[in-house]
Amino acid sequence: MANASHSIPTFSILGPPGCGKGTQAEFIKSQLGFLHVSSGDIFRGALARGDENALAAQDLMQRGELVPDEVIKKMVHDELQRILKASENAKGVLLDGFPRTVGQAEMMDDLLSDLGLHFVGMLNLQVPEALLIERLLKRGQGAEKRPDDNEDVIRERMRVWKEKTYPLEEYYEAHKQLFSLDGVGSPDEVFGRLKPVIVEQGQLA
Ligand code: AMP
Repeated sequence: MANASHSIPTFSILGPPGCGKGTQAEFIKSQLGFLHVSSGDIFRGALARGDENALAAQDLMQRGELVPDEVIKKMVHDELQRILKASENAKGVLLDGFPRTVGQAEMMDDLLSDLGLHFVGMLNLQVPEALLIERLLKRGQGAEKRPDDNEDVIRERMRVWKEKTYPLEEYYEAHKQLFSLDGVGSPDEVFGRLKPVIVEQGQLA
């Protein structure tokens, strides 16, 4: 495994669909010099390229289900390798949407170690469910609409979130790697809570 003191601090950002993690990820990237790797974007990119593993899992995504751990793990690994090669001065890495299951969390050290990264912890944005559904429905009516932004699929994504992803909170809590924050407020307010946690825990100068 890479020596943690010389490897790049890596966080993951966790929060249900609609919690604002995409916006916070942009702040972390632009203001803290992190690389941002979103598993959902990687998966959509692979689909657009006609990748055969992605196409085989496309039905799952369209139903709001998760794609198999091994499929997403390989895609995230390959994207991290590519992006790290292209950017030498990264202060840190932010994984967005990965890990999403305890199985993926257990794969983490193995995934990161040969890339010169070490996992610091999970940033957990907490937002009440009613507010999440309202935000997603609004997004479904706007220009940023995604194929999985209709009400039935939104409810299914919430259900899957609770079943598969809430156990991750317990997992990282037990490993003392869970940093929970209030995700309600303006993007600037939420970033004002996130930034000190990242700087301190990631030991950024
Ligand atoms: P997202 O953009 O993060 O909401 O992801 C959109 C969809 O991509 C999810 O509903 C899943 O079908 C798939 N996906 C993204 N990340 C993962 C992951 N870590 N594990 C399994 N499936 C994922």
